[in-house]
Amino acid sequence: MSFNINSFKLEGRRALITGSGQGIGLELARGLGAAGATVVINTRNIDKSRAVAAQLRDEGLKAESVAFDVTDREQLLAAINTFESDVGAIDILVNNAGIQRRAPLEDFSASDWHDVMRTNLDGVFHVSQAVARHMIARGRGKIINICSVQSQLARPTIAPYAASKGAVKMLTKGMCAEWARHGIQANGLAPGYFATEMNRALVDNQEFSEWLCKRTPAGRWGRVDELCGAAVFLASPASDFINGQTLFVDGGLTSVV
Ligand code: NDP
Repeated sequence: MSFNINSFKLEGRRALITGSGQGIGLELARGLGAAGATVVINTRNIDKSRAVAAQLRDEGLKAESVAFDVTDREQLLAAINTFESDVGAIDILVNNAGIQRRAPLEDFSASDWHDVMRTNLDGVFHVSQAVARHMIARGRGKIINICSVQSQLARPTIAPYAASKGAVKMLTKGMCAEWARHGIQANGLAPGYFATEMNRALVDNQEFSEWLCKRTPAGRWGRVDELCGAAVFLASPASDFINGQTLFVDGGLTSVV
């Protein structure tokens, strides 16, 4: 069989992106939608989820919505099972929802630690398990876990975030180990530094910004649309023999010291 450029297309596929009301998740929804997928917007609020999906339909994309909190196992199981039976199959899952908390490690509160772990790590487990059970029954599926340069590199004040994202990178390999035989490919997509709400404090910090631009071989912050090519690739049949990997989209940051 020879290579077909159409293997990058996502027509006829449905992609659920968690935490896609704003930021990277919303831009990934636009990217997957532009490649032909029907995208499913998820936020914790039903009205917001519907409004964002309506906005994407106004932009000419195919968009649906489902509301759940990635930390609420019972709620998300019910929402995903109902969506699968009433609306249709989720072919692609992007685990994007995530939070950041900053404090020196010796002062980091136990409740912030649990919030970071529950959202960034437990959430990936709960949502992936709920969706993968349906994918396993169908014998195919794509899972993209949003990791981070902090899956590999630590920084002061965000040790719990780095621990959570490092764990997501390993959970991705675990998904590969157990679900590859069911036709599922699970890969990580690790963004470098992108100017979103999560990074507002860093964007506003001129000293940090100057350091980052010197530290990054590309010499600049990333633009969220620059994550879409990698997401489309990992969601498409073009990557069917790639599994358990984490692709860094970071302007070269993790390749140099
Ligand atoms: P934002 O803060 O802009 O977006 C995060 C999204 O996650 C929000 O829409 C938020 O919803 C949602 N979310 C948070 N908690 C939950 C929850 N319990 N259930 C459902 N949704 C939830 O951040 P980014 O767009 O920057 O980050 C997206 C992902 O990318 C995260 O996993 C982050 O760790 C990762 N990342 C970001 C980088 C960057 O440079 N920006 C770099 C590397 C990784 P709500 O609005 O309701 O809070």
